[in-house]
Amino acid sequence: MLYDCIVVGAGAAGLMAAGEVVHQGLSVLVLEGNRQPGAKLLLCGGGRCNATNVRVTEKDYYSSCRHTLKHVLRHFSTTDTLRFFAANGAPLECAEDGCYFSADNKARTVLDALLRYCQQGGVQLLCNNRVRSLEVQNGVFHVFGMQEVFTARTLLVATGGLSYPATGCDGSGYIFARNFGHKLVDPRPALTPFIAGDEVFSSLAGIVVPLRLSLWAQGRKLAVSEGPFLFTHNGFSGPSVLEIASAWLDCRQEGGELRADFFSSQKDEGIDFLLGHAPQPSLKNVITRTLPERLAVVLLALAKVDGRLPALSGRLTREEKRSLGTALRALPLPVRDVAGYAKAEITSGGVDLKEVKGADLESRFQEGLFFAGEVLDVNGRIGGFNLHWAWASGIAAARAITRRCRS
Ligand SMILES: Cc1cc2nc3c(=O)[nH]c(=O)nc-3n(C[C@H](O)[C@H](O)[C@H](O)COP(=O)(O)OP(=O)(O)OC[C@H]3O[C@@H](n4cnc5c(N)ncnc54)[C@H](O)[C@@H]3O)c2cc1C
Repeated sequence: MLYDCIVVGAGAAGLMAAGEVVHQGLSVLVLEGNRQPGAKLLLCGGGRCNATNVRVTEKDYYSSCRHTLKHVLRHFSTTDTLRFFAANGAPLECAEDGCYFSADNKARTVLDALLRYCQQGGVQLLCNNRVRSLEVQNGVFHVFGMQEVFTARTLLVATGGLSYPATGCDGSGYIFARNFGHKLVDPRPALTPFIAGDEVFSSLAGIVVPLRLSLWAQGRKLAVSEGPFLFTHNGFSGPSVLEIASAWLDCRQEGGELRADFFSSQKDEGIDFLLGHAPQPSLKNVITRTLPERLAVVLLALAKVDGRLPALSGRLTREEKRSLGTALRALPLPVRDVAGYAKAEITSGGVDLKEVKGADLESRFQEGLFFAGEVLDVNGRIGGFNLHWAWASGIAAARAITRRCRS
């Protein structure tokens, strides 16, 4: 059978695109390498699926081509996302920070909504069918699966990136793209935890605190991120860390240094707000009003300040105030490396947006070949932006595929 469209990859982008195309009356086959579709989607948002954000703009993403990115986002807004999932049995609910999660806190419900949408239109989904290679003969795509060869008039590569390889993402989409003449913007792990360079903090594993991280290189502040910070057994994680990891990778050769401000809710810099308390509680006592005791002990030790001293400005030497100020408000974090693809939520880089035809996401080198989702050189901030990109790029490609099949 000659399909109108074959979609490679049953993840967020592939399923959204397949559903949209099939609902236009076209025939669609989805080939998925895993035994089940949507493995990564089920992990999203810690299993709760942060599916979009109250405000999504091109500024929430990194890409080499903001222009195309902006046009793709116009295809599917936050309101469109809310309507789509509500209509398909997966209402989304907004948290205080503007992130929308599945209302029942289950990523499974979001995946089921996509699968239902695909099924209702008659998408054919074949799992356990990893695509090995692609060819074009006389304008027809030949897709080599595990045992069979499938044919289609158009082809959508929605294979994701390289992160979390256990979810089926092995970078094969990059190879397909290269074989059609595409250059790649260097793929790199992004939204990734850090591995620490020493063990000073390993006793704090499991502690979560809100803080502000700043990234410095050659005397300049290059980036800032705020939010929960998690000490892990071998490093640091949590949204504030994941958010700043790419910027750190960019400047690690220049000696990029991360500094942690554990009292970022204080408007003023320094530690004056901690000192001068009557009736003279100890420093440790004052610090543990905000920070967990185990963390306070480590920070005081790093500052080489006795936590039993009264929290009074006059009882600390100038040097003690300086070192305590550094430990509490600008502590250099010993980062050795990023944790890599095994722990990275996404892959940055990928198929260059300049090599696709604007918001159609069709290859400039091969008519009928389209891309959607993480395989493209777009990566978003934490907060539902990456899934939003998957939905919007899936819809944009699907509309262009429909136009091509009808022309
Ligand atoms: C732990 C974790 C939590 C996350 N949480 C969030 C979140 O809450 N909100 C958010 O916005 N983003 C989140 N993300 C990122 C988000 O999951 C991705 O951006 C999104 O899934 C990308 O969608 P995609 O369709 O492009 O790729 P994927 O969802 O990765 O789907 C690609 C599919 O293609 C299949 N495939 C690959 N190669 C082949 C082949 N050769 N043949 C056949 N099939 C193939 C894979 O098996 C996979 O099923 C999270 C990521 C991780 C790892």
